[in-house]
Amino acid sequence: MPDWIPTWPPDWPEINSALLDCVASGQWGRYHSDICSELAARLQTDFDVAHCRLCCSGTAAVEISLRACGVKPDDEVVLAAMDYPGNFRCIESVAARPVLVDVQRDSPCIDPQSLRKIALDSSSNKRIVAVIASSLYGHAADWDELQSVCTENGWKLINDACQVMGMTIDGKPVETFGDIATTSFGGSKVVSAGAGGAVFTNDDRLASRLDAWVNRPSETFPLSPLQAAVIGPQLDRLNKMNQNRRENVAFLANSIDSDADCKLNAMPSKRDDVQSSYYKLAIETCSVETKNQVLAKAAESGLPIGKAFRSMDRSSPRRCRKPVPLENSKHIAEQWIVLDHRALLIQKQHQQTLASAILSAAKL
Ligand SMILES: *Cc1c(COP(=O)(O)O)cnc(C)c1O
Repeated sequence: MPDWIPTWPPDWPEINSALLDCVASGQWGRYHSDICSELAARLQTDFDVAHCRLCCSGTAAVEISLRACGVKPDDEVVLAAMDYPGNFRCIESVAARPVLVDVQRDSPCIDPQSLRKIALDSSSNKRIVAVIASSLYGHAADWDELQSVCTENGWKLINDACQVMGMTIDGKPVETFGDIATTSFGGSKVVSAGAGGAVFTNDDRLASRLDAWVNRPSETFPLSPLQAAVIGPQLDRLNKMNQNRRENVAFLANSIDSDADCKLNAMPSKRDDVQSSYYKLAIETCSVETKNQVLAKAAESGLPIGKAFRSMDRSSPRRCRKPVPLENSKHIAEQWIVLDHRALLIQKQHQQTLASAILSAAKL
């Protein structure tokens, strides 16, 4: 990795001292630590939700959310074909069946029209109980539309916000949308404890189901006090870092768009009402060949560029139902690449270097 790209996880002194305090106070060795309850309370306040449960990963958060929503064996749960593949596995892990929906053309979030098509197909939609909607690569889902389809059909809406901590939509934290929301403190995420996650809801009934599932009586999927200790200092800087990432995204997108013979198309969130949080910046390439070339050149030069999630459109029909076309999901999986947020944390004087490195990776 070039030395002008910051390392991740961060090596800040306040993370060190938070850990030392956690050890010195004996908090590290407790089942029910103040440090964990203070973190949950802080997340409730910061993200303006009534209930927050910490847990061991974003994946566990999604699975617990499915259980809290009452998903039972043989029920169906809708998710985008282009999504974190672990969400498909979460649905299977509660013995329910995934139903694939398409994403939008220019945003890797569920296309409400595609979801509506599934809802209208009354011969086959009877078993659906929930929808998992993820906000990927800094794009906000169309919450108003998704929520109205779900409400009309009596489906629970699970908001997978694992990639977008700190994002706001019309001034409201992303975690407040949907019936229940998840976040991740995984090793690569914008706030990281190596592993960890949380579930949020404003619904008292879902919150008590969540508690019933998690408390047995010790916590089934706990976040440890040591993990909780490193999160606070990162939350303190989250808004500033998101701002920094957004500024670098704007510069990059502008450089890519103004390069006339460029084979790339930057895909940041274009919504005016969204203050995004970029865990990854998506870039569309003009062909699979260009994609492979950029990935290879990036690997050579140490730029943190990777593939988008694969599309699940080819999953076996024994494992899932595919009632609608999944063209946009396929396209994104085939032709989009993603730049990791470490590269979005560079200082201003390196913006041009980063833009040139990406542009030249796409040239012959
Ligand atoms: C990372 C991620 C998860 C899972 O989080 P972990 O903490 O790694 O288990 C779930 N959904 C999305 C969209 C993610 O990016």
